[in-house]
Amino acid sequence: MLPFDAHNHVHMGPSPPIQALLPSSATAEILPTCCCCLSGMAIMSTHPRDYQTVLSLAKDLPSQVASSSSSTSIVPCLGVHPWFLHELSLQDWQVDDNDNSSLPTWIQELEALLVANPHAMVGEIGLDGFHFDPTTQQLTSPMERQVEAFRLQLELAARLDRPVSIHTVQCFGPLFAVLSQFSSSNKKRKKKKQSLPPKLYFHAYGGKAATVEQILALCGREIGRVYFGFAPIINFRSPKTLNVIQKVGIERLVLETDHEDAARVPTSMEQGIEIIAAALEMGTQQVVDQTTANAMDLYNLN
Ligand SMILES: [Zn+2]
Repeated sequence: MLPFDAHNHVHMGPSPPIQALLPSSATAEILPTCCCCLSGMAIMSTHPRDYQTVLSLAKDLPSQVASSSSSTSIVPCLGVHPWFLHELSLQDWQVDDNDNSSLPTWIQELEALLVANPHAMVGEIGLDGFHFDPTTQQLTSPMERQVEAFRLQLELAARLDRPVSIHTVQCFGPLFAVLSQFSSSNKKRKKKKQSLPPKLYFHAYGGKAATVEQILALCGREIGRVYFGFAPIINFRSPKTLNVIQKVGIERLVLETDHEDAARVPTSMEQGIEIIAAALEMGTQQVVDQTTANAMDLYNLN
């Protein structure tokens, strides 16, 4: 199997997105037989202006990769990232005053696109307690607004049965408050709580090992329900990451880069594979095989 980048933003550039799929000299060393570097990737929107670009890349990129043996899967992900929430307009937030169950326009538009594209997933969504406006020194979007957008997008993903990719930075209080409003099981409905989406992927996970336990308690412990990723660019400077990778375990791990620049993806993937292999005392190909199988399960590619 080839590695799968479960979370990136290569539509943002500057390199052409196809470069993420091609081998680098470093990757060729550990995976000498591959003719393209990745088996696939999930490209995350951050704002509605990304949606059509991401959908088009998912459609067009696979045919541009010359691979005789296997096909390349590109998963388009649609959602609004907490860093870009403040760029939604008042009109986007408009609801029908005569209808209590009416949803803001931007959620209705996101829902229509997801319905029209059954292979699209929900991402990147989440909460960030550390992203400030440089002028005001306040959070770029107030936490209450972030919580509202996050909850609405989780509800939408649950309603349409789509996995979600979740950003979490310095927000575990509000995160746990939101998650506990939902039922951890998507089978039995406890106290009429709405179910969470079928699969939850905590990307570039920066929490402690003990927090993994709290997330599993709230989201469900069965294998295939909750996944975690660690982006070399974000997580690998932190000394706690190895310990957290060991706590998560290979059966809940996916590889990711979180890169915008496709040219950086192959090297980052290689770093991710090597660090996980070292942390879990596994062979690199074993790490690739298991994380790719996990990503395929996460994104319903089986
Ligand atoms: Zn991201």
